[in-house]
Amino acid sequence: HIELDHIGKSFGTTNVIRDFNASIADGEFLVLLGPSGCGKSTLLRMIAGLGDITRGILSFDGRRVNDWTPSQRGVAFVFQSYALYPHMTVRENIAFPLVMDAFRKWYHIPVVNTVMRWKLMRRADIAERTARIAEQLELTALLDRRPANLSGGQRQRVALARSLVRDPSLYLLDEPLSNLDAKLRTQMRAEISTLHNRVRKTFIYVTHDQVEAMTMATKIIVMNKGEIQQIGTPDQIYSDPANTFVARFVGAPP
Ligand code: ATP
Ligand code: MG
Repeated sequence: HIELDHIGKSFGTTNVIRDFNASIADGEFLVLLGPSGCGKSTLLRMIAGLGDITRGILSFDGRRVNDWTPSQRGVAFVFQSYALYPHMTVRENIAFPLVMDAFRKWYHIPVVNTVMRWKLMRRADIAERTARIAEQLELTALLDRRPANLSGGQRQRVALARSLVRDPSLYLLDEPLSNLDAKLRTQMRAEISTLHNRVRKTFIYVTHDQVEAMTMATKIIVMNKGEIQQIGTPDQIYSDPANTFVARFVGAPP
C-alpha cells in the first residue's frame, strides 16, 4: 500500500501541496479530483518520482521511496500531454518501452539503433505483449501506421498503450482521456476500468471531470488549492459532502 505522510511541495516560496495525508490500499482505483491548478499533476509527479518531494514521507509497503527513481518505484505514467515518436509506426511506439528495457539490460547503452530495434521488435515476448495491449485498446488494425496518419483519439490510445505495455505495479494516469470526444471517452473509461479489474493493481487517476470520478473510482480524494477537502467512496462524497466546496464541485445537494 501507499502512504502519504504530511507530503508538501513548494516551488520557490509558493506552497502548491500542503500537508497531504492519505493511505492508498492495494488494488484501489483512486481518483484525484479537483479544479485546474489545484495541484493534481504535481502530486502525481511526486508519487511517480518525477518531482522532488519538498516535505513529508512517501512510502510504498512501509518503505520510504522519496529518493527512488521512477523505475525503482515500478510505476507507469500516462501524461496529460503526450508525444508519440513521429518516425516510428504505432507498433514501434507501443513496443518502445519494452525494447528500451531489453536493450538496456543487454548492452547498457541508452541509444537504440535501427537494426537493433528492428531485431528486438521481433522477439516473441515483446511482439506478443505489443499485440495484446493493441488488441485491448482496439489498435490492431493501425499497427503499421505512423502517428501523422491517425486521429487525435487514436493517437491518445497509442500513448495509453505505450504507457501500459510494461506491466507496472502502480498505474498513474493524468487526465489520459482529455483529448477524446465524448463517445470515445465513455468507451475508454470502460476500457480502463476493465484493465483495472483484470490486473488488480493500484491505479491513481487524475481528473477534473466529476462523471469520470464517480463512474471509475473505488475511492476519491477531492482537493482544492493543494489541500485535501475530502476522502471517501464516490457514494460518500456525493451523499455526504464534507463542505460546500465538495458539494458544489461534485454537483451534490449541499
Ligand atoms: P490542471 O487540471 O490544469 O492540469 P493541476 O491540478 O494538475 O491543474 P498542477 O499542474 O499540479 O495543477 O499545478 C498546481 C500549481 O502549481 C499551479 O498553480 C501551477 O501554476 C503551479 N506549478 C506547477 N508546476 C510548477 C513549476 N514547475 N514551477 C512553478 N509553479 C508550478
Ligand atoms: Mg494537471
